[in-house]
Amino acid sequence: MVKYTPMMEQYLKIKADQKDAFLFFRLGDFYEMFYDDAIQAARELEITLTKRDGGQEDSVPMCGVPYHSANNYIKKLVEKGYKIAICEQMEDPKDAKGVVKREVVQLITPGTVMETNMLNERDHNYIASLSHFDDGSYVIVYNDLSIGESNVALISDGWDAVLHELYNQPIKEMVVSPDLPETLQNTLRDKLNITLSFHDDETFQAKYRDLCENLNDKRFVQAFSRLLNYLQNTQKRSLDHLQPANVIDLDYFLSLDMYSKRNLELTETIMKKGKHGSLLWVLDQTVTAMGTRMLKKWIDRPLLKKEEIEERFDIVEGFLHGFMEREELWEALKSVYDLERLAGRVAFGNVNARDLIQLKQSLEQIPELKRILKQFDQPRIQELSRNLTFPEELVNLLDSSLRNDPPVSIREGALIKDGYHEKLDTYREASRNGKQWIAELEQKEKQATNIKSLKIGFNRVFGYYIEVTKANLHLLPEDRYQRKQTLTNAERFITPELKEKEQLILEAEEQSIDLEYHLFLEIREQVKKCIPQIQYLAELVSQIDVLQSFASVSEANQYIRPRFSNERLEIKNGRHPVIEKVMKNDAFVPNDISLDQETNILLITGPNMSGKSTYMRQLALTAIMAQIGCFVPSEKAEMLLFDQIFTRIGAADDLVSGQSTFMVEMLEANHALANATENSLILLDEIGRGTSTYDGMALAQAIVEQIHDHIHAKTIFSTHYHELTALEDSLDRLKNIHVRAEEYDGKVVFLHQVKEGAADQSYGIHVAKLADLPISLIDRASSILEHLEKKDRSTIEDAGQLSFFAEGRPQIKEKKAPAAQSEHKLIKDLKTINLFEMTPMDAMNELYRLQKQAKE
Ligand code: ADP
Ligand code: MG
Repeated sequence: MVKYTPMMEQYLKIKADQKDAFLFFRLGDFYEMFYDDAIQAARELEITLTKRDGGQEDSVPMCGVPYHSANNYIKKLVEKGYKIAICEQMEDPKDAKGVVKREVVQLITPGTVMETNMLNERDHNYIASLSHFDDGSYVIVYNDLSIGESNVALISDGWDAVLHELYNQPIKEMVVSPDLPETLQNTLRDKLNITLSFHDDETFQAKYRDLCENLNDKRFVQAFSRLLNYLQNTQKRSLDHLQPANVIDLDYFLSLDMYSKRNLELTETIMKKGKHGSLLWVLDQTVTAMGTRMLKKWIDRPLLKKEEIEERFDIVEGFLHGFMEREELWEALKSVYDLERLAGRVAFGNVNARDLIQLKQSLEQIPELKRILKQFDQPRIQELSRNLTFPEELVNLLDSSLRNDPPVSIREGALIKDGYHEKLDTYREASRNGKQWIAELEQKEKQATNIKSLKIGFNRVFGYYIEVTKANLHLLPEDRYQRKQTLTNAERFITPELKEKEQLILEAEEQSIDLEYHLFLEIREQVKKCIPQIQYLAELVSQIDVLQSFASVSEANQYIRPRFSNERLEIKNGRHPVIEKVMKNDAFVPNDISLDQETNILLITGPNMSGKSTYMRQLALTAIMAQIGCFVPSEKAEMLLFDQIFTRIGAADDLVSGQSTFMVEMLEANHALANATENSLILLDEIGRGTSTYDGMALAQAIVEQIHDHIHAKTIFSTHYHELTALEDSLDRLKNIHVRAEEYDGKVVFLHQVKEGAADQSYGIHVAKLADLPISLIDRASSILEHLEKKDRSTIEDAGQLSFFAEGRPQIKEKKAPAAQSEHKLIKDLKTINLFEMTPMDAMNELYRLQKQAKE
């Protein structure tokens, strides 16, 4: 067998431990990749694939990136969810006997990047871990390394609940046990787009005791240990900067399942996956990146406690009334940098002087913020003002020590101000004096030699020298200087005196740079001690930012402060916060809604495109806005405090998954039925649409009855099964409402007005008309419809006007179309069409086909 070259052997050995990462193998000035790594990297990075002789018969696929620009390539790969193992040469190739020693020094992964240019400033960057326990519970740990923050949550009701919780969190990577069943792994990877890492060591380490001080459950400690052990093993760097983990009690917040998070487009839209068009887009007038991150957290976890919400309302109201002061507040916030991430980097030990200057400038805004907040006529805002404590000593330290324009590097001096440190001043003085002496020497020698162009210069190799051009050499007395270097048209000289001074200057400079570096590290340590204080300020500033954002948005869009009630929900002239923004010219039609003990289910009917879905989502969004402490889009709002919100969308409207089957729809409905309480809000939009009419209708009805009789959740149910409106008679707490559309001049006009009672007809054909289909075709469709309606009415009568279902009779009468032999095939086709199962577009297509046949 042909052997590998020694280097290739070394490569394969190291690669064996880095199976799920690209191995960046340092070879001189390049990081090289081989085999599959090379093939895949060449494709992902669009770089050239080459070959290298590895000792075997076939050469080895290879590609590489230059060491100095590696960061760009790493960034690209990390953004695509890959991991990169950096393998360095551990000795100078010149000194190496045999193959140069190499080791993996760091694993860069999507969840562990710290570099500012690889992080999205307006989003957290979580590495999470998941542990499962014998009792069926799961523990999730969220960690943002860039900030040093960790949160843990216990999920005791099964895997689905885990997914609901994880959905929409900015998790880039998740550490799991290799024992986690493969199907679950795949779900995490494919559905939630998370990079998985495997680590099974859950041993608690004493050195992390402080980090676990808030964790009051053994399972928390175990799960957190898995994450810490993984980080320690792969990152090979200190984790000193992590703060103690906090427990998130999920029962403390309104819970939104993942379907609701997605369907309600809270932080991103379904189709474009962007912020534009989401609730976040409307609510985000925050000034700082910290504010945006906090706003997202709030939207993800609306509150349940009335007092806490009212507190936010009070502050928003205060901000709302102080318009001038709020403008001042914006200005001050603009000068606040990302305190959270700055604190993270201080702790982590990778801040430079520029970061500390940013920190100083941010902290300098605190007195200004205090002053501005004190002006608002609202006790809670004044309390915020009092809580902002100015870290005067820290700011003084930074101000007296650091220059305002420091370089990026902390090892080249020019960081520390004059007057900060006596010794440093002496060195600088010495260096300055030396330079002064040299300048004087230049003058003196010019005069003595009468050579005007004589000059004293400096370079790194020869130090200080006196330069005389060849043309002037004859003016120079023999032996005045020692010759050092000959250039094409000049000679360079030195004198013992000059070298003596040079020695002093260079020493002083070297010492001062060295000293500056150490002083900088000292300052950094001082700042480190203030991290908790900085984090506290960061938290307060973020809150202030979000609440001023609520005030600004509420003012711009004329939102009002809702009231909470225990009995009923009553919204007057409510609007959909996003759609009203997207539509121009105040075109949005406001609507009322009311739900209480007597009426907890609304059944909404109306033609396609009339506004049923909008009306339902409007309620959910309004509830969420209220429970995060924002004002709401209506003229009057009495709200209930919802504990959970569920939304289900019928298959035909489910644009996202597309292939969403009826089964999925039913699973989702079941999820709502199993978890909802009387304090929940359930939105069922066209449920049962994914199956045949009677099937769908029967299921829809059974679901409504279940909610009505057993769950008592506040529910809105939209349906295109007009037959279901008969339920109003049999279910006490169900009320029909409909969205009005009017026929005007043979065309349907959508008024988007929600009224009591049931809708009387479906307007599918009129929608087709709006789409400008030929008049002859529309006419034909109208007559078919008329025919079908007659027939449909008869079948409904057959079915006993649905009271048939209401009474729970076991059988549904089979409807049979009398198959008359004489009938034309077209008529037969027409008879079998069921308009209720079709979208207007499908109906049009079908009609088009029929008409074509008729013409043949
Ligand atoms: P449905 O669910 O009844 O088919 P949608 O709720 O999807 O209808 O609404 C269809 C379109 O009608 C929306 O995209 C929006 O442009 C418009 N619309 C809905 N409600 C209103 C309203 N209250 N005022 C103005 N336009 C509305
Ligand atoms: Mg709809």
